[in-house]
Amino acid sequence: MTPQSMVHEQLVPLLQKLIQNACVNTGDDDSGQETRSIETIREFLRERDIDSRLYYRNPDRANLVARIRGENPMAPTLAYMGHVDVVPADGADWSRDPFSGEVHNGEVWGRGAVDMLGMVAAFTAAFTSVAESGKRPPGDVLLVIVSDEEAGGTFGARYLIENHWDEIKCDYMITEVGGLHIHTDSGPAITMTVGEKGVCWVRMKFRGVPGHGSMPYRSRNAAMLASEALVRIGRATTRRVMTPLVREMSRAFFQGPVEHLLSRLPGFFDRALARLYRRDPGKARFLDTASRMTISPGVVRGGSKVNIVPDRAEIEFDVRILPGQTVEQTQEALRGALGTLADEAEIEFFEFFPANTSEQDTPLWRATEHICSEILPGTRIVPMYMGGVTDGRYWRQRGTTVYGFAASSPALTMDRFSQRIHGIDERIDIRSLELNTEYLMRLPHELRST
Ligand SMILES: [Zn+2]
Repeated sequence: MTPQSMVHEQLVPLLQKLIQNACVNTGDDDSGQETRSIETIREFLRERDIDSRLYYRNPDRANLVARIRGENPMAPTLAYMGHVDVVPADGADWSRDPFSGEVHNGEVWGRGAVDMLGMVAAFTAAFTSVAESGKRPPGDVLLVIVSDEEAGGTFGARYLIENHWDEIKCDYMITEVGGLHIHTDSGPAITMTVGEKGVCWVRMKFRGVPGHGSMPYRSRNAAMLASEALVRIGRATTRRVMTPLVREMSRAFFQGPVEHLLSRLPGFFDRALARLYRRDPGKARFLDTASRMTISPGVVRGGSKVNIVPDRAEIEFDVRILPGQTVEQTQEALRGALGTLADEAEIEFFEFFPANTSEQDTPLWRATEHICSEILPGTRIVPMYMGGVTDGRYWRQRGTTVYGFAASSPALTMDRFSQRIHGIDERIDIRSLELNTEYLMRLPHELRST
């Protein structure tokens, strides 16, 4: 069966069903109910005589694993990994029902179309086709479909990693987020995510002395201390770290001789970034976060009543760290920015995950490059380093080479993707599904161990 006919007859109906299942993850333990979509995929495989197994901590939030045995037990294992939960969508803002899975103008509409049910449907269809082809690939191929990515993977990837590692361990993995088309000064390009920043969430507390709001003379107001801290941290800058990866992203994102020159001159990178921001704010944000520790206040709390001087205030910061950066360095950066206020602040860390990066010089990169040279001729692959996290980090942390990639059509530009992911009118063009399915069908056979 050609990728085109497979997409029309099997993949699109599967994707529509996954969208209609509406496995909305609100972060509540009983939301998602992803077992419905896991069963949809299990049934799709079963109809084609392919066995799969479910693993779960909560039976309503199951995860699926299926395996094709390769010819050579020593050959590397390749996994296709995706999540079936989606974030909420308010239909009132959309041009079409976000959970109908309607096909309109060659696009499948609905929440999850790009994040990442379209990829999950392509993974499943391509996996099935490899299994049915009768031509065994060199190494094992795994299909890993999980729940609960949108809330950190407690029931999904993290559960699997901690409890069923032997069933899901692999040498190479393809997952989200990637395959976004960009224009560069050296021609069209498509992104492949090779790493993610680390997460370091911080709570900063200030204490004051309660008193009557009618007599604030020389009072110690915790809310005032917290707001001074916000101003100081907001003004502070963190150091740029120009890794080879950031240099490569810079070459792809900056355009024209002035931006390129500024971006290479020591101390002028931020000037180049400001110019890029005026032209393309999305790309500027990508590049900024890839090249420094970012500190973003997310929650501010303080005080309890209008006429009481607050004795407590706290701020939660979303800090994203670069490879090698630690809790201690985060603490140092915050204390440095606070200056004289540092001793007034109690700082605690409530979430930590280290930054993680995969090598670029790998058989998976080369195989992808080779297939793309044929199905997306003239488009070169550009590595990306992401500020956000995906489930791929759990495997990267254990040594798997993980790339976020899909062989999308040129219609899926970085701009369009950024507007659609977690946004309104999310949709994917069917041509992207065809190209990606072809890529995923060929990959297990093209992947060489060297
Ligand atoms: Zn996702």
